[in-house]
Amino acid sequence: MKAMACVAGALLALTASIEPGLAQAPKSGIERMYVLYCGDIALTDMGRFSPGYSGPGALSSTCYLFKHTQGWLLWDTGLGDAIASMPEGQKSNAGVWHVKKTLTAQLAEIGVKPSDIRYLALSHSHGDHVGNVKLFPQATLVVQKAEYDWPDPSGTPRFPKDMKAIKAEGDHDVFGDGSVLLISTPGHSPGHQCLLVKLPKTGALMFSGDAVHTQANWDSKRTPIQNFNPAQSAAALDRMAAVLKEHNAALWIGHEPTEVAKHKYSPAYYE
Ligand SMILES: [Zn+2]
Repeated sequence: MKAMACVAGALLALTASIEPGLAQAPKSGIERMYVLYCGDIALTDMGRFSPGYSGPGALSSTCYLFKHTQGWLLWDTGLGDAIASMPEGQKSNAGVWHVKKTLTAQLAEIGVKPSDIRYLALSHSHGDHVGNVKLFPQATLVVQKAEYDWPDPSGTPRFPKDMKAIKAEGDHDVFGDGSVLLISTPGHSPGHQCLLVKLPKTGALMFSGDAVHTQANWDSKRTPIQNFNPAQSAAALDRMAAVLKEHNAALWIGHEPTEVAKHKYSPAYYE
């Protein structure tokens, strides 16, 4: 028996040595992406987000849902479904928020229950991105530790303390197969991150979060003066440009209102 085990061991070693492909990265498990409407933002002063502009403006709010063989991942959660029942919308410090269709209804339309979401990956902790976090108490938060630990002036935790959380310190490969990567881009907030996803047919896409609010800001490399750290904000744009180039990725800006007409929304999907 001992001799046989020895032979088997030797065969295994031989197999590994003649098939180096076996040691390569696991096959990507990403299957599809849904684009979800997550609200509309009417701004009193566009200049707060886009230096050089003044007067009223508008931003879209977009969330993205990914189907992976290891489970569903939702990127950002939008303004909050409760706003859908407010006829006048909800006043924020920069304008008024409206929600015409809830995130819950959009998930139901494609047969996804909130409890099906395994990972809740969030660009950062501002209200227009975490409005629906409490719909997913069973999910694991995937955020930067610097954002998780950032003290809120009101003293309330930025994320529910009873939720499981992966607190990344820098870039993070969520599924371990290179298909869904968080890219650390602090500046807008202390632990802001972007998302890079490699879809099987569509190719690589990077989701900006609030590292970039509009196409015009990206084109002229402008960052809002109200950002947490201006120097980091500028460095984040350089980092994003390098990542886009390295992965031959397209940039999707969730707050850019002209992107709404360009993309197909759920229940349609991208592969
Ligand atoms: Zn935002």
